[in-house]
Amino acid sequence: MERTLIGNLRQAIGQKVKVQGFLHVLRDQKKMQFLVLRDTTGMVQVAHYRPANEDLANQISALTPESALTIFGTVVDNPIVKLGGLEIQLESLLVNNLAEAPLPLDPTAETLPSIDYRMDWRYLDLRRRQSLTLFQVETAVEMAMREYWVQNGFIEIQSPKIMGAPSESGAELFEIKYFEGKAYLAQSPQFYKQMAMAAGFDRVFEIGPVFRADPSFTSRHMTEFTGIDMEMSWIDSHDDVMSFQERWLQYIYKRVKETHGEAIQEYFGVDLVVPEVPFPRLTMAEAYAILKDQNYALPPEKKGDIDPGGERLLGQYVKEKYGNDFVFIIDWPIAVRPFYHMRHEDNPGLTKSFDLLGSGLEITTGAQREHRYDILLRQAEEKGLHAEPIQDYLNFFRYGCPPHGGFGLGLARLMMVMLNLPNIREAVYLFRGPNRLTP
Ligand code: ATP
Repeated sequence: MERTLIGNLRQAIGQKVKVQGFLHVLRDQKKMQFLVLRDTTGMVQVAHYRPANEDLANQISALTPESALTIFGTVVDNPIVKLGGLEIQLESLLVNNLAEAPLPLDPTAETLPSIDYRMDWRYLDLRRRQSLTLFQVETAVEMAMREYWVQNGFIEIQSPKIMGAPSESGAELFEIKYFEGKAYLAQSPQFYKQMAMAAGFDRVFEIGPVFRADPSFTSRHMTEFTGIDMEMSWIDSHDDVMSFQERWLQYIYKRVKETHGEAIQEYFGVDLVVPEVPFPRLTMAEAYAILKDQNYALPPEKKGDIDPGGERLLGQYVKEKYGNDFVFIIDWPIAVRPFYHMRHEDNPGLTKSFDLLGSGLEITTGAQREHRYDILLRQAEEKGLHAEPIQDYLNFFRYGCPPHGGFGLGLARLMMVMLNLPNIREAVYLFRGPNRLTP
């Protein structure tokens, strides 16, 4: 017999069905026994009249919450049942895996234990309907990203994550043993997506792991995360990259709202707003003026940069002034940007680069890249980089390379913004941080 998903039971009224899922709740009463079964599509009440079958009644009484069950029964329309107005009259039951009791983490509980404890028992934590919804939404997000890219002529690449030489600076690199020598885990696909521009691919994207040996203990950093990267050729400036990104994001929000808007409202209390384009743009100079106006003092070590508190304030400012959750901060000083960002012709102290903030959280860095070999080499040297370790990269720009630019976005950060989550640990399947390598 084929499995019927709980979400499809209404089409099976009067029929015998096989339903499989977790035992959400058991109400073992004197005469009646009620099981609430849960699968990824919903929950259903399953009823059994005790005297009808003593053996089955005993089998039910021995069940523990969260056991994995297969049940067989007949679907009946029953408007007084709160769960979907229908019920299954139980005929037989198969226990696929009896859960041990008590549960270390009860996915049906109203109050949640600490986030760290939840990480220890992540597979039980993920059984919560909210967690499930998050990953259903994330699936829709990635699908919408790909749809938009493919409609716009992008090619998908997968670049290697084991590298022979650091891509930017050595600071955030994990070193690994590689046979007799050593290698590094990629901290970004940056160089390789630019290689695709030199290869004449015109437009590429990659969704893949990124590793950062950054001892950060914040609510928005991980040592391994999923990077969403794209790069496009024949642009005039970073503005072309921003206008692509804002339309791409708008499309993602639109698609997600269509398919998951109600679930997001129900499980996250968020009314998803499809952002208006163009997103507001603030130069770094304007951003500084706004922060100054609000008497916000940036920490001295953040000179030329913006710290998370400043980002939040700018997010609020833009929300109030323009009604948009998103804002591009543009034209960052060269001191806080990597050597490969192109500089403004008329103001060589500034890069043609941007960050995108979503509800005051940085989710993207992007730029037009320097595609002219001599200038790139000079900029690398100015930053104290030696040409030799990055010569393979520099070579991309020796035999014809179109002007190009792109961005990198953290998937979990986007999920935080979209679903209004306070901590990145909530937004990722399994968190990796300086103190967390398990499960
Ligand atoms: P931050 O300033 O927040 O540390 P960054 O400037 O190092 O970020 P980039 O190197 O520009 O970030 O990476 C591009 C995007 O990748 C960021 O905008 C962010 O969305 C995401 N990202 C960067 N570092 C992390 C991290 N440690 N954990 C999760 N996501 C990250």
